[in-house]
Amino acid sequence: MVNEAVQQSATPTIDYLLFYVNGNRVIEHHAEPDWTLLWYLRNKLDLTGSKLGCGEGGCGACTVLVSRCVDRDSGALEHRTVNSCLAPLCSVDGCHVVTIEGIGSVAKSNMHPAQSRIAEMYASQCGFCTPGIVMSLYGTLTSSDHPHTSLTIQDIEDAFDGNLCRCTGYRPILDAAKTFAKDINTLPCKDSSASKSISTTLDKCLSFAEESNKEIAKVEFPQELREYIPEFTHIKGSTIEWYRPVTLHELLRLRSTYPKEITKVEFPQELREYIPEFTHIKGSTIEWYRPVTLHELLRLRSTYPGGASKLVYGNTEVQIETKFKHLKYPRFICVTNIEELQQMKRTPTSLIFGAGVTLTRLQAKLAQWNDPKVDGGVCQALIDQLKYFASTQIRNVASLGGNIVNASPISDVNPVLQAAGAVLELHRAEANSVRHIPITDFFLAYRRVAMIDDEILVNIHIPLQLSTNKTFLRSY
Ligand code: FAD
Repeated sequence: MVNEAVQQSATPTIDYLLFYVNGNRVIEHHAEPDWTLLWYLRNKLDLTGSKLGCGEGGCGACTVLVSRCVDRDSGALEHRTVNSCLAPLCSVDGCHVVTIEGIGSVAKSNMHPAQSRIAEMYASQCGFCTPGIVMSLYGTLTSSDHPHTSLTIQDIEDAFDGNLCRCTGYRPILDAAKTFAKDINTLPCKDSSASKSISTTLDKCLSFAEESNKEIAKVEFPQELREYIPEFTHIKGSTIEWYRPVTLHELLRLRSTYPKEITKVEFPQELREYIPEFTHIKGSTIEWYRPVTLHELLRLRSTYPGGASKLVYGNTEVQIETKFKHLKYPRFICVTNIEELQQMKRTPTSLIFGAGVTLTRLQAKLAQWNDPKVDGGVCQALIDQLKYFASTQIRNVASLGGNIVNASPISDVNPVLQAAGAVLELHRAEANSVRHIPITDFFLAYRRVAMIDDEILVNIHIPLQLSTNKTFLRSY
């Protein structure tokens, strides 16, 4: 009865998934809501390049790029690197998933520059984390229209905050990645051998050579070679040429004679016209609902209140609960497509963020608004916290609302919101009720919040307080 009521209230209903993987169209009629994207890629599509490492979004070996069209009129695309071990398969409906197999392969002799440069700069050893590393790099390059002129060394370094490597070491990985940066020429590479404070891949090799000279007895080295100064060398063979640059500048100049165009996997035309609709996937044990209006969401939640359903946005917390804490939920209600949860607004008296704003979008907007004279330092305090919040892949999908409702005692965001006097806006279907509650009254105990069984967190209001000599807000 109840189920029918929900379905009747929200027609039409889609009961399958449509997405693309590496340019190939996939229609999945038999998805299980507890399948992760990684599991599907590896087990159903046989794309085993993306690795299962920690399974909890910490190591980044499963990183893939998920792109979607965010404005059908302008055709604007949003690209996000995500942990496919946490992402539910159902969450990529309408998206284009690009995996390591999609950007190039040794077998097909079509390696992408993001792959070949990692190889050429000795930035891969056992190789387990490499697909994730390459995809983080590829995602960063793809997110920028003109990577060679817009990405800085810092931008590129920041892109790797979600990738762990236990054997190669980060220096060669970062050196390889930074060769794509517009300001690579500002690296003081010419003096780097002299300065102990700077370590590049080239320096590291030289320092090893020095150490072994000290320790191992050796056949006399020819005097002539002691005076030998290596110079730029070019050997032109009959079929192959050999170059030996001796400075990083020369190496980069050589590399820049290669095509500058960074290829991107084409975004499927069909998805530019894709309009999300109410979706209901009935798995064998779990159901997945994806409402597309706030009205549908509120009705669904009042039909399935409390433990009868679980709201899910980025799934970065819920997946840990189901996989490691073995919690069971009969229904998931995905809240990623509700417009009201996506707003970011500034009024003369407050900042207003929808509960579904991802931490990446939040970071960008805060940077744009940041003005301590107007906001009393709250933007900067949140920016400082978010810099060390999880990783790029997690921030790309995790929502502000999810962090608040989690009520984790180690939340990075909640202490700042409490200090700022934030107010939460909660909605429920019954009598269209909307109430506002100060965030300080919202947290009741360890992971317990003052939210009625069928309530939805819709907005977070942060009052703007002019900085005075008496009060200021900082985070450390
Ligand atoms: P989900 O997992 O989708 O949901 C979390 C909870 O919120 C669920 O109970 C869900 O039902 C509820 N919910 C979601 N939206 C709404 C809504 N609109 N109304 C009512 N309820 C809602 N946290 C930190 O604070 N700092 C960190 O550094 C950090 N690092 C992490 C690193 C890793 C590897 C992982 C896996 C997690 C980490 N987290 C961290 C925790 C988590 O990423 C954050 O809490 C995140 O903000 C949760 O957002 P989400 O959208 O993924 O939530």
